[in-house]
Amino acid sequence: MSNRFYDFSASLQQLEQQNLYRRRRVVDGPQAVELQVEGRRLLNFCSNDYLGLANHPDVVEAFKTGADRYGCGSGAAHLICGHSSAHHALEEELAAFTGRERALLFSTGYMANLGAISALVGRGDCVLEDRLNHASLLDGGLMSGARFQRYRHADTDDLRVKLDRTQGRVLIVSDGVFSMDGDVAPLPDLARLADKYQAGLLVDDAHGFGVLGRNGGGVVEHFGLSAEHVPILVGTLGKAFGTFGAFVAGSAELIEYLMQKARTYVYTTALPAAVAEATRTGLRLLQAESWRREQLQALVGHFRRGAEQQGLRLMASATAIQPLLVGDSGRALVASRELADLGFWVGAIRPPTVPAGSARLRITFTAHHSLQQVDALLAALGEVLR
Ligand code: PMP
Repeated sequence: MSNRFYDFSASLQQLEQQNLYRRRRVVDGPQAVELQVEGRRLLNFCSNDYLGLANHPDVVEAFKTGADRYGCGSGAAHLICGHSSAHHALEEELAAFTGRERALLFSTGYMANLGAISALVGRGDCVLEDRLNHASLLDGGLMSGARFQRYRHADTDDLRVKLDRTQGRVLIVSDGVFSMDGDVAPLPDLARLADKYQAGLLVDDAHGFGVLGRNGGGVVEHFGLSAEHVPILVGTLGKAFGTFGAFVAGSAELIEYLMQKARTYVYTTALPAAVAEATRTGLRLLQAESWRREQLQALVGHFRRGAEQQGLRLMASATAIQPLLVGDSGRALVASRELADLGFWVGAIRPPTVPAGSARLRITFTAHHSLQQVDALLAALGEVLR
């Protein structure tokens, strides 16, 4: 093609040379511990299906029944005619589960974060974000037009210094569990600071919700906090819930405001109602079956003890996300490929997802892994990272 606009080859080549090119693999069959991947069977250690609900027969059945009752597409945005009784019931159940007045469904977590942040702050306001926040939180802050600043990771002293220097309306934004490090945000301190400085606090608990806390209430329950400490809570449904979508939970007034103002809510088609039905079942299972969280914790403990014995470079995480720091992107890629040759699927996470020089193998566990599978992974890691 002669039009230079369409020439992407230099950019693509550069990504390849820097070992930053991303490739996807085709999975055949449902999400499970063992996956059929392009002719190979791989043990899956990179999924966010933490509780093993994505392929649970009751969740699948609810999805089918939902499709029978509501059809496939929702037809329109929630505020037009796409808001079904299934969506409505799920919102009420999520509000009850999170101990908040209301919850609002969004089509994805990315959209929930973009929409909520850009509705809550704008020109003349300030947004302060942990520098390791998920891309959707950072993008929401940038898109909002508010003055955008990042504080050092989990560093509430740095946040305090920045709060001292800001005036007017301020929104503090943090992941609950950091998606690429697995550590937990210093939530009690964030809540105290937000209160002291009269700032808003939005916490995205995509990786904690359903997983942390005795009842799966996430990072808020983990710290024994309640709704008043974290007034704006984002949760995603594509991870522990085993389905798809996201929600924001908070006061009735907050939710009413977001319904009016969040552009990624107003101007997009509602999730299929069948997904809402499947999620309602996921939520019931997640509440009823605490053994899933206990099993996950047991696997994480077992893995960390084994990895320590082998001298692997663990990070400070007690959650189902257990990255091993490698550093160089090329080395991380080679390690990931060698693991695949040994039958294990572990992703190599590289910049810009993580800071330069901190490429890592991101290992995640689900309640369906066995201790034997974790031992097999440890043996393979020992071989590959020796
Ligand atoms: N927040 C965090 C912390 C995430 O890790 C992710 C996705 N991995 C999202 C939001 C986006 O959620 P979704 O996949 O539903 O768009």
